[in-house]
Amino acid sequence: MCRHLGWLGTEIALSALMLEPPQSLLVQSYAPRRQKHGLMNADGWGVGFFDGAVPRRWRSAAPLWGDASFGSVAPGLHSHCVVAAVRSATVGMPIEISATAPFTDGQWLLSHNGVVDRSVLPLTATAESVCDSAILAATIFERGLDALAVTIAEIGTADPLARLNIMAANGSRLLATTWNETLSILRRPDGVVLASEPYDDDSAWQDVPDRHLVEVTADRVTLTALDATKGL
Ligand code: GLN
Repeated sequence: MCRHLGWLGTEIALSALMLEPPQSLLVQSYAPRRQKHGLMNADGWGVGFFDGAVPRRWRSAAPLWGDASFGSVAPGLHSHCVVAAVRSATVGMPIEISATAPFTDGQWLLSHNGVVDRSVLPLTATAESVCDSAILAATIFERGLDALAVTIAEIGTADPLARLNIMAANGSRLLATTWNETLSILRRPDGVVLASEPYDDDSAWQDVPDRHLVEVTADRVTLTALDATKGL
């Protein structure tokens, strides 16, 4: 995925996060402002949201801008915890729904913005697709999200060219990593947004430094340097 977004807060309409802001994911799908790799994100889109404790997903292998049905339904879909993404497929990766974030293990929703050499990842039978992001997601699920920082630092060391920005949520925790891609944070009165790039020009957006883990819970936001977690 090339641009992703996470929300933890009060219930919000998916359209308010993904479609309505001036530089929303919808706009980022054809005119991203901070994307370093790929010009647009036309290879699919997905959103996962918690309905109580249950993660639900809507994914497509077509561009978000062409989805009139989602535009119609999104104002009526509300959640307190959301992971959404628009995709620019890495060369050689399949363009199919099963390669499109968010991925899930039934508890977590997870998106990957970046690329990783699949030969450094363990063989896994649970990946939804042969796409690097799907195999990476399965690896992270198998190791557990509590080990996310260590897993990313290890994989980033094994593949020095990897870009490993993860966005993951389980309904009460929103986790993100920065590893060679951009990420910004917006603390609003009603919740916290993490996004590959700001969806508007609000001066409250802050850039997250590279190689960090961000953890958002109901009462705090914590940033931890990823290199410092190596070898734990
Ligand atoms: N490598 C992933 C894919 O092909 C993600 C691509 C990206 O972040 N642009 O889907």
